[in-house]
Amino acid sequence: MPRPLEALIHLDALHHNLQRARECAPDASVWAVVKANGYGHGLQRVYEGLRAADGFALLDIAEAKKLRELDWRGPILLLEGVFDARDLEWCSRLGLWHVVHCDEQIDWLAAHKTEWPHRVFLKMNTGMNRLGFKPHAFRNAWARLSALPQVDEVSLMTHFSDADSPRGIAHQMAVFQQHAGDLSGERSLCNSAGTLRYASDPAVRGDWVRPGVMLYGAAPDYPEHDVTHWGLKPAMTLQSKIIGIQHLEAGDTVGYGSRFTADKPMRIGVVACGYADGYPRHAPDGTPVLVDGQRTGLVGRVSMDMMCVDLSHLPEAQMGSPVTLWGIAPHHGDHAAQLSIDEVAHRCGTIGYELMCAVSPRVPVQVLNHPFP
Ligand SMILES: *Cc1c(COP(=O)(O)O)cnc(C)c1O
Repeated sequence: MPRPLEALIHLDALHHNLQRARECAPDASVWAVVKANGYGHGLQRVYEGLRAADGFALLDIAEAKKLRELDWRGPILLLEGVFDARDLEWCSRLGLWHVVHCDEQIDWLAAHKTEWPHRVFLKMNTGMNRLGFKPHAFRNAWARLSALPQVDEVSLMTHFSDADSPRGIAHQMAVFQQHAGDLSGERSLCNSAGTLRYASDPAVRGDWVRPGVMLYGAAPDYPEHDVTHWGLKPAMTLQSKIIGIQHLEAGDTVGYGSRFTADKPMRIGVVACGYADGYPRHAPDGTPVLVDGQRTGLVGRVSMDMMCVDLSHLPEAQMGSPVTLWGIAPHHGDHAAQLSIDEVAHRCGTIGYELMCAVSPRVPVQVLNHPFP
């Protein structure tokens, strides 16, 4: 029998979450953001669940090629644009749309020979200070691009730094409107948090929204809101089994560094999942885990291939009992139990994004077409 750890990808959840994005941004087109191998779910797998999107947004030309090989004929957007002049040949060949965020990218375009003018998304740095033209340089970049024979349509975009938190988006919206309000072209502003929290305002939702993490069933603004609040369904379940049981006396310790000490007799279960699978090594004692669909917590340090959980209050748990690290538990009683990746991540001092992207290649993946369990 193979090691009992596996990741399940829920195609129905991807489809559902895409619909949620559409409901939040009525009339806008939706870029399904599938960078980082579909946020760790596998590009080909998420393509199956998200093919109702209007386009796919990603970073790597290799990933764009893969989508074309899967027969995606619609728009593909390179979110960071091209990394050198030669990438433009691939854009011409594969019909890729690309972000333009700096003067060098305009220079490369001006020198590029192509039969097909490119659709570009000109990016303004409205305060994120990562990629994009400074607001005062934006109009000039727009004029330069618009005049190039290599360029078809120029769309306008920016990226929010605080759409998930109290600072919000007003300061960036003001800058964007001041410097681009009168320029022609389609607009794209919202990531998941922008889509969920602000896209009811037509000026914010623009023509294209760019949801990423919400499509995978994580809440961008946890713990303020969780997936239930936003009506999202987890697209990934990480599940395993109990592969060993230990009985502890008071004073016994668990695992490397003896981080956990029992203060009373306890029964603990050993779970086949460790940091080499992508589970965070720095997960503290008490990090939630479901055994047989019931909540319990981690005890002791996560090791490379295993971790331990408290079974003291779960007398029916035994060798082979199903363990859910995040996602949806197999049926227990009448209702399916869920453990959100956001809650696990929060306990570990990180975000759901990082955990889903970190699931390691050694974890076997099963794609489910139907609701689970
Ligand atoms: C990753 C990314 C997104 C999606 O962000 P989420 O927070 O996952 O929704 C949107 N736009 C750009 C430019 C990105 O790089």
